[in-house]
Amino acid sequence: MGIARSLPGICLGWLLLLAALPAWASEMVVLTDATPRVALTPYVLYYHDAAARDSLQDAAHKLANNRFARLPDESAAFGFQSGAYWFSVRLLNRSLHERRWLLIQQYALSDHIDVYAHFADGRIEHWQGGDAMPFAQGRSIRYRHPNFRIELPRDQPVDVFVRVQSQSSMQVPLTLYTQSAFTEMSRDAQLGMGVYYGILLALFFYNMVLWLTLRDASYFWYLLHISAFGLVLFTLNGLGFEYLWPRSTWLADKSVPLSICLSQIGMQQFTRTFLGLNERWRMGDRISLGIIAFYLILGFASARLPYHVSTPIASASVFLSITWVATLGLVITRRGYKPAVIFLLAWAMFLLGTGMFAAVAFGLMPKVFFTEYGKEIGSAMEMLLLSIGLGYRYSALRSENERIIRESRDQLEQKVAQRTSELSNALNQLADAHARLRESSQRDSLTGLHNRTYFHEGFESLLSQARSGRSLSLLMIDLDHFKQINDRHGHLIGDQCLRWAAGVIGQTLRQHNALLARFGGEEFVVALPGMDLEAAAHVAEELRMRLRAEPFRHQGITIAVTASFGVHAVDTRMKGGAEAVLQVADDALYRAKADGRDCVRTSAVMAA
Ligand code: GH3
Ligand code: MG
Ligand code: MG
Repeated sequence: MGIARSLPGICLGWLLLLAALPAWASEMVVLTDATPRVALTPYVLYYHDAAARDSLQDAAHKLANNRFARLPDESAAFGFQSGAYWFSVRLLNRSLHERRWLLIQQYALSDHIDVYAHFADGRIEHWQGGDAMPFAQGRSIRYRHPNFRIELPRDQPVDVFVRVQSQSSMQVPLTLYTQSAFTEMSRDAQLGMGVYYGILLALFFYNMVLWLTLRDASYFWYLLHISAFGLVLFTLNGLGFEYLWPRSTWLADKSVPLSICLSQIGMQQFTRTFLGLNERWRMGDRISLGIIAFYLILGFASARLPYHVSTPIASASVFLSITWVATLGLVITRRGYKPAVIFLLAWAMFLLGTGMFAAVAFGLMPKVFFTEYGKEIGSAMEMLLLSIGLGYRYSALRSENERIIRESRDQLEQKVAQRTSELSNALNQLADAHARLRESSQRDSLTGLHNRTYFHEGFESLLSQARSGRSLSLLMIDLDHFKQINDRHGHLIGDQCLRWAAGVIGQTLRQHNALLARFGGEEFVVALPGMDLEAAAHVAEELRMRLRAEPFRHQGITIAVTASFGVHAVDTRMKGGAEAVLQVADDALYRAKADGRDCVRTSAVMAA
């Protein structure tokens, strides 16, 4: 669909001039069947028409006057330039089979491209191309790069002039292909790009699933970064114009700065969240936010600014933006955050690739395979590594969480152990208090002997032992004429005396494994397990003797104390239980009183 227009009204004067061009003016490229693909860059001469006013005639004149020059470093990249560039080359088709050749400019973004072919018969053909017109117009075949089909008659030289005027970077790498050579080349290139965008798409969907499941913001910013970056390359490769906005010449221009701004915003945001800048380096985080603000403003401005203003700013700032991201990676790596190492490696790859591409755009490096596809190779590596980095970061976060959980569980266990020991201490203290309380509830406060309640409990269990054959005896002791002691010396002295008597009784009984209690008033009761009546009477006699042997002395007062004893050996055949047994002993005591006190009486005597 190339526009081939003859220019019939061309003035004879400059036709003659063209025909008379000296052979050295532009080196002749000889096309044969052995050269199906010829890169024209080494043969092309160029001229910068800074005012962009020259016509074909002017250009031909300048070529004749030797004003055209060879391409510097055999590279047709000049960076951002105003005005128009003219290129010229003379072709001689010696091929036996090929008449139709395809001239391709391997750079998609030029605005206006004019191709003139001047044939030996004086005919001139003119084609127009570039992205200033819709995609469907201005190219011979539907292909992302501008292309022009030229019929080259055999053995006749044809002079080709190419005029390019563009707000984009001035890159005019021209190549001539036969139809079949072009088909082979484009197959390989499409496969390469298919692999590249396939990797990008796979990474995109993989990380999208991760984002949807994990809800980690880094994944979202990674997705923005990867899609905006993919869009930048799609635009630069000419695929955006071919597939996404073939009718919009406005977007064909604006998509470059817009997608660059978007990709940088995604990249900076991703870096902030991935490295956790907010916590790890506040100052760095602020600078990143500043860069994001810059790209937001530039993005909005580039919708209005001319392309040749916004694109160089956006492209050049990418250097700073990426250098900053790499610096952040370095700083955070040095601060010991492990996932930052993978991050750093990823950006190193990217820097290398994009750096080479930008260097070509600014005319600093020649366009060869690695510089042309460096950004694709570098960025695919970068995105792959970042995706791995995200996974690594996620697993680092998870093990950090596990560590925190483990530590808090340990702390909890320690606390529980501490609380348990405190609780068991408290329980022990409570048990002690309880035991003391129980003990004091079993004691008589004046004498310190056990009380009657305690005696009853102990005596019941001794009684049940007695029922299984063990002998058991009982003493009832009552101090004699104690009322008189009280009356004579006062109640307080009476108390002291009572305590003293209890002490003497207790001491004497210590060797006998006796159950002794204050029965009430000045009366005591003693159970003697394992003793028959005789042994018990013997103990009673011993007690009686001890009491009368040493009088109670207190504050110079000496009081003779005696006691009467009732002794009873328990007979388990007898009915009535403890009360009845006590009653028998008490009866014996009563008889001791009756017999004049200070004596021992036994129930056996009574029975006799
Ligand atoms: P008997 O020889 O017949 O036993 O004469 P008694 O005076 O000892 O007997 P009685 O039962 O008539 O009096 C008991 C006295 O013991 C009456 C009471 O004042 C005294 N007594 C009882 N308990 C206490 C006590 O806890 N402290 C004091 N100081 N005296 C007590
Ligand atoms: Mg009494
Ligand atoms: Mg008495």
